[in-house]
Amino acid sequence: MSPPPFDDASGPAANGRAEIECRGRGKTLPSGGRTLTILEGVDLRIEAGELVAILGPSGSGKSTLLGLLAGLDRPTSGSVRLAGRELERLGEDELALLRRGRVGFVFQSFQLLGNLTARENVLLPLELIGAPGAAACADEVLAEVGLAERTHHYPAQLSGGEQQRVALARAFASRPAVLFADEPTGNLDSETGARILELLLDMRARHGTTLVLVTHDPQVAARAERQVHLFGGRVVSDERAAPARTSGRAAGHAAGDEAGG
Ligand code: ADP
Ligand code: MG
Repeated sequence: MSPPPFDDASGPAANGRAEIECRGRGKTLPSGGRTLTILEGVDLRIEAGELVAILGPSGSGKSTLLGLLAGLDRPTSGSVRLAGRELERLGEDELALLRRGRVGFVFQSFQLLGNLTARENVLLPLELIGAPGAAACADEVLAEVGLAERTHHYPAQLSGGEQQRVALARAFASRPAVLFADEPTGNLDSETGARILELLLDMRARHGTTLVLVTHDPQVAARAERQVHLFGGRVVSDERAAPARTSGRAAGHAAGDEAGG
């Protein structure tokens, strides 16, 4: 089934193709007889191919927002379109299909399956979507992350950096349109983290993937062309800046006012 076209007026700033569009997104949770607001009124439009960093202090709602944008979690208000599909209209099965086919994830804690080898971890999601040439594709992407020699090792036999490489291979293997990464360098020492970040940005550039990257590290965020700051469950700034070329340099602020929120 082909996705419905974007038929609404998204404003003059909307000159690209929206990969992710989120309106008035909110998330509340019942908490001891009261209602806890985790996200409130989040409006965000992310174009195909963009690299967006979501920043904010711990507890500001970054992971919650990522989960809602990726269709892992349901909002209590507002709507999200991902790759042209309105997530609210999809049942669990349709949502799972969309996620498997179009979306990749990388987490702080790697989230590899411990009883599967590196190669099997990469293969599993490919087999679930019935991707043709899954085995060759898994080997190719594992070579791309520099693990051609380690494909038969289990996660426990790999270092943290190597495990995150496997997770990157798994995320890119299905050629997702959008990749969501939640503090992908957060569990790694700074040198390893920097190498993983370079690899992630490299692969994203090579595959033309839209990347939404959650971080609380300004050095990581400085590599993104757009920075969205959350505070207390709200978007407090949304700025485009010239991305820094090296990880040691902070991004300069763009002169134009392109803030969306
Ligand atoms: P961040 O990723 O920015 O650290 P989170 O999105 O994980 O923040 O969480 C935002 C806030 O929502 C935090 O105060 C957290 O404790 C709360 N929260 C998130 N998920 C739940 C949940 N399932 N139940 C209760 N509180 C939650
Ligand atoms: Mg988080």
